[in-house]
Amino acid sequence: MSLLLKNGTYIHPETLKFTTSDIIVHEGIDGKIEFVSRIHEDQFENILDCSGKYITQSFVCGHHHIYSALARGMGAPKKNPENFNEILEYVWWTLDKCLDAEMIEASALYTAMACIKNGVTFVIDHHASPNAIKGSLEIIASAFEKVGASHLLCYEISDRDGMDKSEEGLCETAEYLRNHQGLVGLHASFTISDDTLKNAVELAKQTETGIHIHVAEAKSDQDHCVSTYGMRVIERLEKFGALESGKTILGHCLHLSENEKKIISNSPAWVVQNTESNLNNKVGYFNAVGLGGNIMMGTDGMHSDMLRSAKAAFFVGQNFDTIGYDSVYQRFRNADRYLQSNGFKGHGPNNLVVLDYDTPTPFNTGNFFGHFVFGLESKHVQHVISQGRLVVENQKILTVDEEKILVFAKEQAIRLWAKMKG
Ligand SMILES: [Zn+2]
Repeated sequence: MSLLLKNGTYIHPETLKFTTSDIIVHEGIDGKIEFVSRIHEDQFENILDCSGKYITQSFVCGHHHIYSALARGMGAPKKNPENFNEILEYVWWTLDKCLDAEMIEASALYTAMACIKNGVTFVIDHHASPNAIKGSLEIIASAFEKVGASHLLCYEISDRDGMDKSEEGLCETAEYLRNHQGLVGLHASFTISDDTLKNAVELAKQTETGIHIHVAEAKSDQDHCVSTYGMRVIERLEKFGALESGKTILGHCLHLSENEKKIISNSPAWVVQNTESNLNNKVGYFNAVGLGGNIMMGTDGMHSDMLRSAKAAFFVGQNFDTIGYDSVYQRFRNADRYLQSNGFKGHGPNNLVVLDYDTPTPFNTGNFFGHFVFGLESKHVQHVISQGRLVVENQKILTVDEEKILVFAKEQAIRLWAKMKG
């Protein structure tokens, strides 16, 4: 079954060429789009009038955490965190230990809904639930598919709760990768022993995938690495062969030496920046200088709005980074290149957003970047097409009952918060 987008203006995501045409959108994981004129409308079950609207490739979140979805508005932690490690200990590691299967499902359903409403149809997630590891990735994958979001998942393997938990994380990963595209997740250097790192890299190589890990998010990750292993985080990852795959994703990368930057830029690995999370955790500022071109953007679980992430990266970057109008868009779109060059499925040309963008000024190829930074917002996302299927129409989700999921999520949030109080 195909969908017809009538008379919209398509913006090519790379060339930024504007083309006004009817577009046939074919369904499926490898579905294509066709620009056509003079077609018989009666052959289409679904026709959207896109006159005056802009159509472009939908968006990708390069680093998300569905596990944080039920944290919004929860009470203060037992101790007020004074640094990044205390934020992890008193907020996130307290929360993730309390997650069970139902809470994970609610978190994934809500996150997928929030993503697609913002035009984000592909999510690269990094999941942790140390007391509900087995089957957790399958729960997330099913929830995402139910809502209509494509995904590249991993479980955050870590020794922070004991070696039996890291072993379980490794097993969950191996099991999941048997039937799904995904990555081998690791928390961060400071919670991973040499044995665990070795096993994770081995699994990634066996399954022909990459590692997804937080790197030097705070300076404490480097201090721990230097005092424990006598080398810096990227040097350690390189030593274990973790940087050899173009599928590998390094989250944050805020506190790197010149040598580490050189190692990254000479490797096929990818960096993902998460500006608002860095601001919130007061851990530092991302700077792309010396890191090479493989940089994409994520939200780190803060929210599910990639247009917002791009704006944050641009404005914060005016003081702390060398980011310009073209490079912010490039970084925003780099996740497309990450997925395509690695052969990951679910982000082909039949993943689209239809934008109802009311601008008081001319909008064209020549001034696209100015509109991207100062104009386009997720509120302009009117319709969303995921793998050729209309999943959001007039800002309403078509695939699942949004109200029902919000009720379910609230029930699970109340349960989670009570459990966290212990
Ligand atoms: Zn993260």
